[in-house]
This record gives sequence, structure tokens and C-alpha cells, in this order.
Amino acid sequence: MSNKLSRRDALKVIGLSPVAASVLLSSSATTQLEASEDVKGKIVIAGGGSGAIMALSRLQRAIKNPDITIIAPNEIHIYQPGQVFVAAGEMEVEDLYLDNHDYIDTNKVNWIKDEVNKFDPQNNSVTTRSGEEVLYDYLIIATGIQSNYEEIEGLKKEDIGTNGISSVYLNDLEHGRAEGATITWDWFNDLKTAAKTKKPKVLYTQPSSPIKCGGAPQKMLYLSADYLKEAGLSAEYTFATGLKSLFHLPKIDKELHKTQERYDKIENKFQHHLRSIDVKNKKATFIHAYEEEVYDEDFEIYEKVSRADEVVIDYDFIHITPPMSPVDPLKNSDLLDNMGWLEVDQYSLQHKRYKNIFGIGDVCGIPMGKTGGSARHHGPVLVENLLSLMKNETLKAKFDGYTVCPLKTQYGKIIMAEFNYKGPAPTFPLDFEKPRWIWWAFDLYMLKPMYKYLMLTGRF
Ligand SMILES: Cc1cc2nc3c(=O)[nH]c(=O)nc-3n(C[C@H](O)[C@H](O)[C@H](O)COP(=O)(O)OP(=O)(O)OC[C@H]3O[C@@H](n4cnc5c(N)ncnc54)[C@H](O)[C@@H]3O)c2cc1C
Repeated sequence: MSNKLSRRDALKVIGLSPVAASVLLSSSATTQLEASEDVKGKIVIAGGGSGAIMALSRLQRAIKNPDITIIAPNEIHIYQPGQVFVAAGEMEVEDLYLDNHDYIDTNKVNWIKDEVNKFDPQNNSVTTRSGEEVLYDYLIIATGIQSNYEEIEGLKKEDIGTNGISSVYLNDLEHGRAEGATITWDWFNDLKTAAKTKKPKVLYTQPSSPIKCGGAPQKMLYLSADYLKEAGLSAEYTFATGLKSLFHLPKIDKELHKTQERYDKIENKFQHHLRSIDVKNKKATFIHAYEEEVYDEDFEIYEKVSRADEVVIDYDFIHITPPMSPVDPLKNSDLLDNMGWLEVDQYSLQHKRYKNIFGIGDVCGIPMGKTGGSARHHGPVLVENLLSLMKNETLKAKFDGYTVCPLKTQYGKIIMAEFNYKGPAPTFPLDFEKPRWIWWAFDLYMLKPMYKYLMLTGRF
């Protein structure tokens, strides 16, 4: 296995923190705790990204001679948080590629390199795209999220990278490509060139549906604005979001409004959901959904009325965050809740109706953010509860809703927004809403080695 810390990565980390480096180096030692659980049953994992690999590694560390099949099409595993850094010119796209062979040992695990095409929970079975039926005793669903660019009328995926359109989210997890990252870095530079002759109109969108890494649309806004600012340039920025505020936690919301004052002029348009786009004429049409108080003369009272106006915005450059959902085979299954996500209990991560099924990662229908940070906290809860189920014991482990959003407010500064079901949950006793350089250094230099050597191997 080559998931041991390289000299290059170790030097980066040592440069940042000798303490952190020693933790990493000791954790990447080859010694492994002996698996002690003697439980029986065939476990199938669907997915080959953060959640799936974290679950696999933890199960292998816990169970003696486990019977595990992983159904994952991808040999390359994208370190998706790094897509933002590539888009901002701070990492190379090659830095994002991890090799799933380093985590899936085919001498011990059955790896079916395919996708699940059909989930049949009544019969404890999944069927792959090539038609192979796989039975299970226990199923872990870790199929992540799919980006639905085609839901935006007039937009084709191929338009991204043309006509002033970018999207940091664009990636192909099956084939291990992160085109959106490099396209967005080119877009930053096209924007800079355009700003030398006139102030371009730049539009950033965020849908009203849940998305992975909910902070990324604003990260692209602030980083691109800072990129121009550093060069003494500026633009007319519009942030059009389907949400009602910049952030749901008031302290962070306030700090983000303060951040916006750093830049020339940012206009926020809340509750604006991108419906269609005229690629050639550079016009974006939004549905502005809101409530208005109107006076009812008959009953002599004010009442709230829902409105949905069409709003057209012209732009020179647009950064699009697509609507997102679970993958199609899940949408065609009986496994989703009425909001359209995997119907798991928000504490135990067990499916509410099919008790031998668990979820991990973005697919879960729970109220908190869809981030790799959450998946890393799902891992131990899921494994403990699955083992309890296998032993016919009560499920005791509870996920507290932890998620993290490293909001890049400028080059060199991040607000590390950590929160859970109860509210703010900062790991360190610092004013958590303040942008800090230390979080930038942590996110850029330390997080990927931690992800690669500790999280994916189930050591942390
Ligand atoms: C631009 C961007 C920035 C981000 N920034 C951050 C950040 O700063 N911090 C953070 O914590 N998180 C961040 N994230 C989010 C983080 O990457 C995800 O939350 C995390 O990867 C979720 O893990 P997952 O296992 O649920 O899904 P993924 O890691 O996306 O993996 C899904 C896997 O399922 C596979 N799959 C899909 N369909 C099927 C099928 N039918 N059968 C079998 N396999 C299937 C895919 O090929 C893939 O391997 C960011 C994401 C993006 C895109």
C-alpha cells in the first residue's frame, strides 16, 4: 500500500507544525491494531469516494476476516475539497488524484469495478450496470451526489468553459476527472484580462437545493474578487442564491457581510434560483421566490402570500453551482425520503425502514451539511452501529451533526465554520467566525495529507 506519508508531504506538514507532523508520521506507521470483532455477514459497500473508503477501512480494522464487497467504478479518487484550490491557482489538478488501489486490497476485499444500477432492498440485492446481481446481508450506501446541470434550461455541460461560463463543481467521479477546477482557473484569468479594459459583470449562482460543500459558491466569489483586487482591478459582482442569507449562523453571516465590504461592490440577491440561461446572449433567468404581506380588505387582516417572479440578469462571466441530488439509481429506488435523500436516521445513520442498510456521506438525508468533514464523523458512528446490529445489540452510537465549511474569504484567510445539530462546534477555542491565516495554511497544506493518510485509512 502506498498510503504512507511521502517525504514531500511530510516536509510540507513539518513546515507548518512539528506537532501535527509527528501525529501524522506516527499514524502512518505500518503497525495496525488487530481486528477483534468476530461477526459474520456479507457487507456490500456502494461507492468509491470519501465515505465508502472511510467505511471500508474502518470495517477492515474492526472485523476479523470480514466478508466485504465494494461496488465502485473508479480507480482514481478525487480529493474534491482541493478543486477550489486548483480553481484559485494554488494547487495543480494532479494533486487531487488519489489511487483507490491504495485503499482497496483485492486480496481481502471483493472489488466490483462497476456502478449499482438497481437497488432492491426488499430482496437484499443490488444489480450492477453490467447486469450482475449481488446479494448482501448488510448494505452501506455511499454513492455521493450527482450534479444536475441539465436542470438549468439552455445549459449543456459542454458549455462550461465557453462563453464566460465556469463551475468549480464540474467533475467526473467515475473516470477521475475534475475539469471544473482547471476551467475555473482559466476563468479567473480571463476575468482578469477583461477587467483591464472595463469592469465586467460577474454573476455567481447557488441553487435552493442542498449542495455539497455549501460554502463553495461564496468561496469562488471572494477568491476571484481578491484575485482581481490584488492586481488593482475590480468588477461588478452579483451573488444570486436560492437561500435567504449568506450563512445560517448569525455570527458568520455578519462576518461574511463584512468580508463583502473588502471588494468593490457585491450585490446579493437572495431566494433567486437559476432556472435558465441564454449561453450566447449571456443572460441568466432566475425565479425569485418570496413571501409578501398583503392586506385582505374583506377580512381586514394582513396575510402572507407566496410570490415567484422571473428576474433576468445580464452578465459577462458566470460561475454556476448546479442543482444536486442523489444518483439516478437511488432516485428510482424505494430508499429515499420525501425530500429526495436517503432516508436514514440523523443520529444512527441506519435506514429508517430497511434496518440492514446504512448511509454515509453526502447521500444521507440529514439536516446538516454535505462535506467530507461530515463523512469522516459518520465513519465511526456507522461502523459501531453496524457491528451492534450484526451482534443483535442495541445501536448506541450517535452522529452529532458535525460538519465543517472552510470559507475562503480572501487568498490567505479562511473562516473555519464548524457546527453541528446544536449550533457552533469549533474544535479550537478561538472566535470561530473570524477569518484566519492559520486555517488557510491548515486547509491548503495539512488537510490533504490528513485525508490521504489518516481519514481514508480509518486511523482518524
Ligand atoms: C468543489 C468542492 C469543494 C469541496 N470542499 C470541501 C471542503 O472544503 N471540505 C469538506 O469537508 N468537503 C468539501 N467538499 C465535499 C466533499 O468532497 C464531499 O462531501 C465528500 O466527497 C462526500 O463523500 P461521499 O462518499 O458521500 O461522496 P463522493 O466522495 O463524491 O463519492 C461518491 C462515490 O460514489 C460513486 N458512485 C456514484 N454512483 C454510484 C453507483 N450507482 N454505484 C456505485 N458507486 C457510485 C462515485 O464514483 C464516487 O466514487 C467539496 C466538494 C466539492 C465538489
